[in-house]
Amino acid sequence: MARIVQKYGGSSVGDTERMKRVAQRVKQYSDEGHQVVVVVSAMSGTTDQLIAQAKELHDNPSEREMDMLLATGEQQSVAFLAMAMHGYGCKAESFTGAQAGIETDGVHCKARIKNIDPERIERSLEKGNVVIVAGFQGASEEELITTLGRGGSDLTAVALAAALNADVCRIYSDVDGVYTADPRIVPEAQKIDRISHEEMLEMASLGTKVMQARAIEFARNFDVELEVRSSETDEPGTLITRESEEMEDKAVHGISLDKDEAKITISRVPDTPGIAARLFQVIADSSVNVDLIVQNVSEQGYTDISCTVPEADLPRFETDLAEKIRTELNTDEITSDKSIAKVSVVGVGMRTHSGIAATAFQALADADVNIKMIATSEIKISCVVPLDDASKAVRTLHQAFGLAEKTSGDE
Ligand code: ADP
Ligand code: ASP
Ligand code: MG
Repeated sequence: MARIVQKYGGSSVGDTERMKRVAQRVKQYSDEGHQVVVVVSAMSGTTDQLIAQAKELHDNPSEREMDMLLATGEQQSVAFLAMAMHGYGCKAESFTGAQAGIETDGVHCKARIKNIDPERIERSLEKGNVVIVAGFQGASEEELITTLGRGGSDLTAVALAAALNADVCRIYSDVDGVYTADPRIVPEAQKIDRISHEEMLEMASLGTKVMQARAIEFARNFDVELEVRSSETDEPGTLITRESEEMEDKAVHGISLDKDEAKITISRVPDTPGIAARLFQVIADSSVNVDLIVQNVSEQGYTDISCTVPEADLPRFETDLAEKIRTELNTDEITSDKSIAKVSVVGVGMRTHSGIAATAFQALADADVNIKMIATSEIKISCVVPLDDASKAVRTLHQAFGLAEKTSGDE
């Protein structure tokens, strides 16, 4: 008998027919004598629809009330799935995140899990139930409902797998694994059989939203091995696991794309010591997350500084923040550009293979894609390119690193 945590994403429970198929799959495992804990997302589109409705009522709704609202999406799903399980004669109980013992900090809309008290889940499992937990939510010490950031049901699953000491943690989705690039953009992308937590974390943070980045970070920190699989087939998916030596055989494992960033340029900044510190302190004070930063060569005592920020933060930037920067730095020239995308090449093998950057830049040049900004780390190279060229850039890099060919490096 194994203890299994399964998570089903929004599209896998998108309508009652799919919900029934999930119930049948879960029942199979339960009938085999396994203890099954199921984490479920809101039905596809529900969270987006709730957000849109909230914005019809208020431009900037209270985050406390947003959490109260958004948690209802997952609550519907768990009740539906429990009913479907009962329909197949299977014992099942649904729980909200709070009922399942998930305690978070009080940061609404992106709360962090502080502790999980699995006692109630354990009791329900002992009674022979399939336990169904609402993903994406918990409760703070003050018993306020909190949510864990978009895609947060992945985090619920990983955290429960760690807290319950589960033997298996599977993330079921509308895709049968993690691919070398988004299969919607690169049809010849290949399913990756094994990938390290480190690479998956980098890919997820760089825009590959098949898994939530925070969930992978948690999995890495608590050494939870997980598998991304299709909710429609029984094929093995992608194992996300601790890094092993042969993973470095291949220089590049995947290409990520993030279209949700914007570029800001502050021109004619006096090139004196401490100026960058002042600029980024002003930005940090407003909780806007900066990603890439580039400072140009100084000319006649002035320089330009560009950075990327989440596009969602741009309205806030353009209103109060731009004004603060103008005052602090005594410059008038602040421009923003939404028509950009960040394309990244990721692989732990970059530590040992050389020439990866040269190959990437040459391939983009040959495809006539203009690189506006570059950032590198030990296992990634990111390029900011014009939004219109984003898909072409992903396909070009995918081809340049031979990712369409299945190699033993993936095995
Ligand atoms: P769920 O609703 O199950 O949580 P998501 O929509 O969050 O599913 O994630 C699955 C989607 O991620 C897929 O439909 C796919 O289009 C997209 N995706 C983007 N990049 C990749 C990739 N490299 N490999 C697999 N899927 C990817
Ligand atoms: N329903 C939430 C969202 O759409 C959480 C999740 O699906 O994982 O982001
Ligand atoms: Mg998801």
